[in-house]
Amino acid sequence: MKNFLRKYKKELIHSYQLNFNMAQSSIEWTEMTWNPVTGCNKISAGCKFCYAEVMAKRLKAMGIKKYTNGFKLAIHEDELNTPYLWKKSKMVFVNSMSDLFHKDIPIKFIQKVFKVMKENPRHVFQILTKRPEVLLYYDKEGLLEWTHNIWMGVSVENERKIKRIELLQQCSARTKFLSCEPLIGPLPNLNLKGIDWVIVGGESGRTPRPMEKEWVVEIKRQCKKADVAFFFKQWGGTSKKKTGNLLNGRKYLEMPEKLEMS
Ligand code: SF4
Repeated sequence: MKNFLRKYKKELIHSYQLNFNMAQSSIEWTEMTWNPVTGCNKISAGCKFCYAEVMAKRLKAMGIKKYTNGFKLAIHEDELNTPYLWKKSKMVFVNSMSDLFHKDIPIKFIQKVFKVMKENPRHVFQILTKRPEVLLYYDKEGLLEWTHNIWMGVSVENERKIKRIELLQQCSARTKFLSCEPLIGPLPNLNLKGIDWVIVGGESGRTPRPMEKEWVVEIKRQCKKADVAFFFKQWGGTSKKKTGNLLNGRKYLEMPEKLEMS
């Protein structure tokens, strides 16, 4: 019996490892995730119920090798090859399990990630950070090479984090976006100059903080006025499947128009 259980556990971990490494994503605004770095630490209110932390701890408990360190920052040089293996064009969320501009990630490694993105122009790479001050510092020093297929975004969960937009606006990425998720406060004064795309979503999980409908409608109104693509991801709550993503009876799944690949 013991042997059977051991074999069963091994097979389960192996099949999970295979599925996880395939990196197909259930995140509505992307297709794949690519995690050359894992692990992070919390820096703002939006981090409170960090999904990456929960997942990393779960994967560590399951014995998945990549997550031996749990949610501690870890660099995975071997992951740099992965995007070369995807033959078909993909929309790729970079570092869904970390933050590429975490201060402890050496710039040399970030540059390697940028090189991979440059050498894979058939894919679109979406980077999202809560640390745009680090991003801007490297950018102003001329250390980042932006190609057309790199989209850069910042998370803005409430008005207190609105300054992140200003920093993003100063960086040289061609396509820029905001992720207002989890939206935990109103954002009536968005400066959307130079912004191509806004994603909005409520928090999910066991004790989600509420998101008011008026906050979502207000952001949609500002996007329309500024001619910015608006993507409503989810209402969130304790059962996000039940709450869905309809806003006034319809879905808003707009994408930036800058999808050209050359
Ligand atoms: S920055 Fe992102 S990955 Fe890091 S703790 Fe916050 S939510 Fe999690």
